[in-house]
Amino acid sequence: MPEIRILPEEVIHKIAAGEVVERPVSVVKELVENSLDAGATSIHVEIEQGGTRSIIVTDNGVGIPPQQLTLALKRHATSKINSADDLFSLRTMGFRGEALSSIAGISHFKIESAMEGSAPLGYSLEVREGKSSGLGEVAMSRGTRITVNNLFCTTPARLKFLKRPETEWGHIYDLLSAMALYHLHVEWTLVHNGKRSLFSPPAKDRGARILDLFDADTEKMLYSVEREISGFKLKGLIGHPNFSNKTNRNIFLYVNGRWVQDRLIQHAIMTGYRGVLMTQQYPMVILNIEIDPALVDVNVHPTKREVRFSNTNMVHQIVSQVIRERLDQAPWREKEARDVSPLDFFQQTPNTQNPAFPIFSIPTSHDPFKDFAPSLQKNVFESNVIDSDKNSKIGTLAFSSLRLIGQLHLTYLLCENDGALILVDQHAAHERIGFEKL
Ligand code: ADP
Ligand code: MG
Repeated sequence: MPEIRILPEEVIHKIAAGEVVERPVSVVKELVENSLDAGATSIHVEIEQGGTRSIIVTDNGVGIPPQQLTLALKRHATSKINSADDLFSLRTMGFRGEALSSIAGISHFKIESAMEGSAPLGYSLEVREGKSSGLGEVAMSRGTRITVNNLFCTTPARLKFLKRPETEWGHIYDLLSAMALYHLHVEWTLVHNGKRSLFSPPAKDRGARILDLFDADTEKMLYSVEREISGFKLKGLIGHPNFSNKTNRNIFLYVNGRWVQDRLIQHAIMTGYRGVLMTQQYPMVILNIEIDPALVDVNVHPTKREVRFSNTNMVHQIVSQVIRERLDQAPWREKEARDVSPLDFFQQTPNTQNPAFPIFSIPTSHDPFKDFAPSLQKNVFESNVIDSDKNSKIGTLAFSSLRLIGQLHLTYLLCENDGALILVDQHAAHERIGFEKL
């Protein structure tokens, strides 16, 4: 067994940097968060080759005094907290004092900054392979510009794990969209390989920002939600279930304004949407949860992507309940009920033998399908019937043999057959009919 040794400082540093900087988007996130913490109202991000070649973030924030530039690049150097207790009353994005030193350790790094009194005179500092240049002078307006070239040049193993530049670029675009959707007072610019791909001036409200980042069709599909329950303030927009995606890309979540990709909240959202979305589809949601900072730990993930709530069950329950209730009273529910008469479903004769309508049956007597299933086989309009308990196929069913007896929550058609109550998901059935018509 080799003896136990303490690792050299430089190795410790690289290990820490590897945690903070997973990929180019991690660098962009840290730099943009620093700009926000510095009170910037204009943030300009320039990317080359998905961030692997170059990342430049320029802001008009307060700047850094020249005598503190060297300090800002040291590990655990921060102006944001003084003690561990401060972690539980955080109002800034950063707090670990780790980002700049980590990034500088694994790239060709340059920081330039000018403060209110000194601009247009600013000061610069460069770090290459861990060696720092002396302080230089530069002409610039108030703010800070950070240039990160050749990311991971000192950690070639990490380079191998990077995806194609287009994939890395996609992550950066999503990050900037998420930041821009929340920080409305900031003017955002994102340039990739010399081409401007996102620009949004300060927005008067979230609707205006959505028009800039997406389009008018998207804006029409979103419904506002605002609720306060047990000290949690939920505010944002939730999308029409028809306006869904194959990925969760359009779920934008924030906790006290901090963008997170938190699995618990995502799950709660999907729970709220349960039954109104097609399987494998994700809605568009923009949601901020405002909560007492003492009840949430933001220091649980290296890139601060996830947070931990002191009461996870309660958060899950509140988020799913608020979404569910908003969906229940959404204006389209009534409209759809008007547009599509339940009877429509019984007058359609699709040309398929196996329409995949989601149908749930609740047997009202013992195994009712066993007896009548064979007699239904001859009908044109058939579907598989799934036993809700066993989730197994137990026969086929013809719609023409059903009697419509009502509608539940404007969502399910209630039908009866000898011995069975059958629930047809009206929304899914409507889409299927459209599909069959096409
Ligand atoms: P943290 O954000 O956790 O404090 P960083 O390593 O990201 O740690 O930054 C170190 C310090 O450098 C910050 O606390 C802040 O004082 C300063 N700083 C970094 N970026 C900027 C910026 N864009 N504008 C002004 N000050 C900055
Ligand atoms: Mg920071």
